[in-house]
Amino acid sequence: MEILESGKRNIVILGAGFGGITALLHARRRLRRAGLSETYQIILVNSTWWQLYTPALYEIAAIPRGEANAIALKSAICIPIDAILRRLPGVKFIGETVAALDPERHTITFRNGDLVNFEYCIIALGVETNYFGIPGLAEYGFPLKTFEDAVQIRNRIEALMRGTTGPLRIVVAGGGATGVEFAAELVNYLCFLKDRKIAGKCQEEVILLEGGPEILSGFSPRVVRWAMRRLVALGIRIRANMRIKSVSAAALTLVSSEELACELLVWAGGVKPAAALEQFGLERDAKGRIAVNDHLEARPRIYAIGDCAGYINPATGKALPWNVPVAESQARVAARNIIADIRSQPKRVFRAMANYPFILAVGGKYALTDLVIIRLSGLLGWLAKQAVELRYLLSILGPKDAFTLWMRTLRVETLND
Ligand SMILES: Cc1cc2nc3c(=O)[nH]c(=O)nc-3n(C[C@H](O)[C@H](O)[C@H](O)COP(=O)(O)OP(=O)(O)OC[C@H]3O[C@@H](n4cnc5c(N)ncnc54)[C@H](O)[C@@H]3O)c2cc1C
Repeated sequence: MEILESGKRNIVILGAGFGGITALLHARRRLRRAGLSETYQIILVNSTWWQLYTPALYEIAAIPRGEANAIALKSAICIPIDAILRRLPGVKFIGETVAALDPERHTITFRNGDLVNFEYCIIALGVETNYFGIPGLAEYGFPLKTFEDAVQIRNRIEALMRGTTGPLRIVVAGGGATGVEFAAELVNYLCFLKDRKIAGKCQEEVILLEGGPEILSGFSPRVVRWAMRRLVALGIRIRANMRIKSVSAAALTLVSSEELACELLVWAGGVKPAAALEQFGLERDAKGRIAVNDHLEARPRIYAIGDCAGYINPATGKALPWNVPVAESQARVAARNIIADIRSQPKRVFRAMANYPFILAVGGKYALTDLVIIRLSGLLGWLAKQAVELRYLLSILGPKDAFTLWMRTLRVETLND
């Protein structure tokens, strides 16, 4: 069934993550400025009714149950899309899962069978957990990608802590930013539980397992050294060059044939583009991302941005990292190019930055915030991280909603410190 027939032409944005929301704000502003709001309508599509604030997800997986239930956690990290759209009259929202896109007919089909047509489309569907076909991993490993994943991890840890007397061994597999941030926060959480909720000494063992030669691949050697010092000080064992061959209920088997017994395996070792992209009839790269040109077009009038876009940086010959600043900068260019195309103006070439800003939080109120022009570490880095979060919320919500959400997140994030 064709939905949202309005007589206007549709610009459809698939995905309400960092890329999709930024594209929405920029496309809407430019449409209005160009006096095109009466001719075009923007339709935002997302499988959930909220935007997940992923940079704080590791915190959610490490909040004691007695301090915040799942509803409190959700209200701290899931930004309601209706709150975002409250300030954007005219934008339509479809809370459905995209099943397929027909690049010839310019239609999108949803899982429930509904159909929507488009004149322009921006694909910003992100990535999902990749288990690389490792036997037992999807069954016994706990991923950290969605809100539900985070709640499951913390519930599992609490059940284990209360059910065993001896110290636990938890393996966090994947030494990228997600694995590092979670492993560090986990130590806080385990000790908080042991010291305050369950009488006993905190002797839990956290192992950070990395398949490559060192953690934080892609970060500068200075950042890697800084993070490693902090992780070691927190008592985390870092084991590099350790590839998982298979996983069972109580142990991992490494490629080296070593058996590593553990009570819990958290899998932060890989992601792959959203499964729906397979049904889009568009060219994809070896990792499954949608191939785009330097205007970020996969086909004329169809753009792909963020984690699901296979843009190759001509300066390095490599794809860009999967992070928020890349998704947002691509969103701005795609939105701009759509309006330029409508107005028969030249499109802008997307240019990758040599360095992107990043924040790496490593347990408690301790982070490295690199804003390219300034780098802050420790407590100052953590304070800068909070300021960056507030700035983002203020860019998408009204001031009251933004401050309320920020305060809620701040409260939850500091519960186990
Ligand atoms: C735990 C974690 C921590 C991270 N921390 C940081 C950080 O600190 N800093 C940083 O820069 N980056 C971080 N990242 C990476 C960052 O989240 C991504 O690079 C960024 O979100 C990419 O934006 P995007 O718009 O491409 O995708 P996303 O933000 O992932 O948005 C994709 C959207 O598409 C929706 N979707 C997917 N499939 C469908 C479908 N079939 N139908 C409808 N909707 C669908 C999803 O629900 C989601 O809302 C982190 C990622 C994770 C998982």
